[in-house]
Amino acid sequence: MLQDEVRFCRGVGPARAELLGRLGIRTRGDLLLHIPRTYLDRRGISRICDLVPGSESVVSASVSSVRETRTRNGRRMLVAVLTDGTGRLEAAFLNAGYLRKALFPGRSLLAAGRVELRAGLSMFHPELHFPAAEDVEMLEKGSILPVYPLTSGLSQGVLRSVVSAALEDCREGLDPVLPPEVLRREGFPERWEAYRAIHEPAGPEEPPAARRILALEELLLYQMALRRIRAGSPGLGAHPIPAGVEDRFRSSLPFVLTPSQVTCLRDVLADMARRTPMRRLLQGDVGSGKTVVAAGACLSCISAGLQCAVLAPTEVLAEQHAVTFRRLLGGLGARIGMLTGGSPPARRRELLSGLQSGGVDLLVGTHAILEPEVGFRSLALLIVDEQHKFGVEQREALLAGRDPRPHLLVMSATPIPRTLAMTFYGDLDTSRIVEMPPGRGVTETRRVSGDQGRQEAMGYLLERLDRGERAYVVYPLREASEKQDLRDAATARESLARGPAGRHGVGLLTGAMTAAAKLEAATAFASGSISTLVSTTVVEVGLDVPEATVMIVAHADRFGLSQLHQLRGRIGRGGRDARCYLVAPAGISAEARARLDVLVSSTDGFAIAEKDLALRGPGDFMGTRQHGIPEFRAADLSKDLDLVAEAGRLALTQDGAVARNFETEIRWRFGDRMIPIA
Ligand code: ADP
Ligand code: MG
Repeated sequence: MLQDEVRFCRGVGPARAELLGRLGIRTRGDLLLHIPRTYLDRRGISRICDLVPGSESVVSASVSSVRETRTRNGRRMLVAVLTDGTGRLEAAFLNAGYLRKALFPGRSLLAAGRVELRAGLSMFHPELHFPAAEDVEMLEKGSILPVYPLTSGLSQGVLRSVVSAALEDCREGLDPVLPPEVLRREGFPERWEAYRAIHEPAGPEEPPAARRILALEELLLYQMALRRIRAGSPGLGAHPIPAGVEDRFRSSLPFVLTPSQVTCLRDVLADMARRTPMRRLLQGDVGSGKTVVAAGACLSCISAGLQCAVLAPTEVLAEQHAVTFRRLLGGLGARIGMLTGGSPPARRRELLSGLQSGGVDLLVGTHAILEPEVGFRSLALLIVDEQHKFGVEQREALLAGRDPRPHLLVMSATPIPRTLAMTFYGDLDTSRIVEMPPGRGVTETRRVSGDQGRQEAMGYLLERLDRGERAYVVYPLREASEKQDLRDAATARESLARGPAGRHGVGLLTGAMTAAAKLEAATAFASGSISTLVSTTVVEVGLDVPEATVMIVAHADRFGLSQLHQLRGRIGRGGRDARCYLVAPAGISAEARARLDVLVSSTDGFAIAEKDLALRGPGDFMGTRQHGIPEFRAADLSKDLDLVAEAGRLALTQDGAVARNFETEIRWRFGDRMIPIA
């Protein structure tokens, strides 16, 4: 039914199937989830004589003439004069050679855009629709027509007809997903009606209501898929770990735990004392002391004669964790090993045998520790740092098939907006560290531009270097022009090294360097043999250098807000006041400036994250595209907080009973990426 391949659907053959594939449509269900971008509705069409300047309007008109002109600064402009028998409207397009063929006198079209009053009424770059003759007739009769996202070679007409056939063909065969009372609440007697309403609405109020139903289904099924992964080895118990180490751990520390750290540590120890495996998310800003809580959990585990593992997203971070865990736990007798892709073979063999024999209590490493040859004698606790860098599958690969099942503690420094936390970590319990350890300085953030701004930032940097402090200079890295960006960072390093900062040592750290070179740069910076580190975003997840008090972010407008917040968390960790300069070109838009000013005025990571999500959308926010977390088709994670919450509640009640029934639905929607490895 829904999972049927699209090339076997009515009206679709191999050629169209391929075109549809470009739109991500592979199954009949995908066709039904191809949600219209907008709708044409005759009731929404204005007569030209009724247009009000400043309003967003749609007109139905025909082209009466077309001319080409140039703007004052020499850009080519295409102007079409549109008439509808009541008046005259100009539609203007910059550099729009591609429209020349489409806009010929006599052509009927719909134009949607903002009405402006120039020499006469006009629209600048209106959205154009060229309805087929029968569309015009349909509109005349009062139909509301869907407008779908297209790809070249497919027309609205073709999409409408294949979607319509798909709708008809599954009229009888749609298994229920949502409880009937939820459908009724949103105004639909059955599931199929919601799909009908999104594609063939009877009134303008139907699509928004239908979208809510489709979104809720999608979120619910995703929640159930996550839960099914968790149930991958059902019934497996964990090692219950007696929670007796808290006092010993706390008295071994050179500082007093913050109140949140105490609460979080107790949450974790209590979870691990149970027979059901812990699944907990530990959230807290960079530097809030999550690692210390994790170390307490490890000590508990090790004291019970069991092993633990810490999974870090980068080699630099793994190295740093190894140092931290040795510092925190070494004195208490813990034997700690580190394994990364770069570990020499002899060292690796030794480690692996130590893990087998129980000679290693705690293994810190990158995804290299996930390989099958890495066999633990008694792995009881897995700690994953910076969770969002890993896919659900990777995390689960280390857990699946182990009996007893290890406890899982996920640490995240990214303040995650509530919708995303509930969607992606809905299957985890949450603990949050809400305050910073005492004795941290204040970090001030300034947005600057132009030569003057750069000079101010450099002056400040030199001043702090002269006091023996350290600075980060960060460059963005975009996939599109990675080479150029790397060259920018390298060039910046060279010119800094030639200038007055040079005598304090200037290093370079980028993702493109070898692991060994990265480690060397990080170590030199940590030890102070270089005082300025020019880097791309790798510092985001890594370095903990208390002497660092200055950060200059070049092209700050190219970073996400949360990313900038993370970066800024790298400075001011040692108690001294710090300053972060966001350098952006003078010409950026007022909007881009306002965006950066969010950081200047706020240090609340969660507030920043919510803003970031609203501005960039969930895909970019999570970096999900790389990680196989599905993009939602109906749900909008920047807005649908109520639906996400409801999906979580529904998933709890529907869990075991209906899961089998949903198997195929989950599979065609989310694909095999959602299926656990073991
Ligand atoms: P996170 O993992 O959340 O980024 P860490 O656990 O690495 O934070 O802690 C950051 C720094 O603060 C470390 O140098 C750590 O030793 C120190 N620290 C952690 N907790 C406290 C505390 N309660 N009091 C003082 N310093 C602390
Ligand atoms: Mg950390």
